Amino acid sequence: MKTGAAKRGETHQPFGEHVVMRENVEAGGLEPKEYEKLKAEIFEAIWRDLDPLEKEIEDNEHVDHAVVDPLLRKMRAFGLLVPKRYGGVGLSTSQYLPILAEFSKVQGGIRVLMHVHNTVAHGLSELATEEQRQQILPGVAEGTKSVAFGLTEPEHGTGMDIGTTARRDGDHYVINGRKWLITNSDIATHFVIFAKTDPKAGVAGVSAIIVERGTPGFTITPLPETMGCKGGEHGQLDLVDVRVPVANVLGREGQGILQMEELLEISRVFIAATSLGTAERAFELSLEFAKKRVTFGKPIAARQAIQRYIAEMGTDIYALRGMIQDAAAKWDQGRRIPAEASMCKLFGLEAVGRVTDRALLVHGGIGYTRQHPIERLYRDARLNWLEEGPPTIQYAVAATRFLAGYEWHV
Ligand SMILES: Cc1cc2nc3c(=O)[nH]c(=O)nc-3n(C[C@H](O)[C@H](O)[C@H](O)COP(=O)(O)OP(=O)(O)OC[C@H]3O[C@@H](n4cnc5c(N)ncnc54)[C@H](O)[C@@H]3O)c2cc1C
Repeated sequence: MKTGAAKRGETHQPFGEHVVMRENVEAGGLEPKEYEKLKAEIFEAIWRDLDPLEKEIEDNEHVDHAVVDPLLRKMRAFGLLVPKRYGGVGLSTSQYLPILAEFSKVQGGIRVLMHVHNTVAHGLSELATEEQRQQILPGVAEGTKSVAFGLTEPEHGTGMDIGTTARRDGDHYVINGRKWLITNSDIATHFVIFAKTDPKAGVAGVSAIIVERGTPGFTITPLPETMGCKGGEHGQLDLVDVRVPVANVLGREGQGILQMEELLEISRVFIAATSLGTAERAFELSLEFAKKRVTFGKPIAARQAIQRYIAEMGTDIYALRGMIQDAAAKWDQGRRIPAEASMCKLFGLEAVGRVTDRALLVHGGIGYTRQHPIERLYRDARLNWLEEGPPTIQYAVAATRFLAGYEWHV
């Protein structure tokens, strides 16, 4: 067996030093029986409690946290990736993926809320100091606190292009800059802000710093409603001379981008799982519709052209499922998966794009109306292009690894 993918921390791949803790994975996640029980309960609650909220959220373009958050709390959805010793569920990443995929079948604003909360909670669980963990994680696990991720900026581009600065002043940083499109900006109690702590050092000069909501000089403004995944809040953050203790650095000073690259690997697989869940729902609805819809005296399911759509949709879903399982298994074995993660994310967004396109065609004109969830699934899926980096960035990440001799066969 050729085990080409680098282990975390190995130096022969240019990934930087291994910094993540991997407590849940090392603990093996939940015992299979306990996991299956929890998963079944969550799946049931998603369809019983969350799915009926779709119309109200879509109509109002607003997720009512007074209604949704207690439901998510009851199903322990806020603590899925937080280690057990901080009050979380302690799922391994492989265990988390099917649950995220199931959330991606119902109203997208709820999926975005829980995805961002859990992904940032995961990052915090992996990188934070013991003191930071004890302060923040128990509240995050029970859903009374929430963490958001502040990277994107209006005046700078995708990812590493950062203008926000954090100047050292004694045992504090003074942060100045603007972020936007920051999900959960309405509910987050803590924001992980990426800022240049050493502007001359390029990528090595960026740090991740925890900024609490309400810190003087820190203002949050809502941005306009989005095309799909309605009801989520993706606000603008303005930081003007915001003072935070140096102890608020998450992970290591100057390692913000390297840490983010490592954590983005698994969160790109999370987005691929979202694409999978949405594609599965669009597929199931299309099968049902094709059998029922009769034209020219026959169900459209009997027509070869419709069968071709169905076969192609199934093929995309099957391929995506396999890719995700492979990437998650490697990650849970402690390997880095930079190329695999970008390929999962890329193939996932293309697959869910094709599947929701075909689902719309199977449904005909009525699928374009709000009478069928296909219309919503089609819009929701378009966010998968952008989350955790657009396609051009995934091309760059995967191609750079391969051109540098990345070995990835198992
Ligand atoms: C609903 C929503 C929620 C979001 N939530 C968050 C969040 O919680 N936190 C957060 O930090 N961000 C968040 N984002 C931001 C998201 O990650 C970015 O929008 C995305 O990464 C693209 O960055 P950008 O908008 O700056 O686009 P730009 O960087 O301006 O890119 C525009 C186009 O140019 C291409 N491009 C840019 N630079 C290059 C390059 N060097 N090489 C090749 N092509 C390039 C891009 O691929 C894209 O096609 C969210 C976005 C949305 C829509």
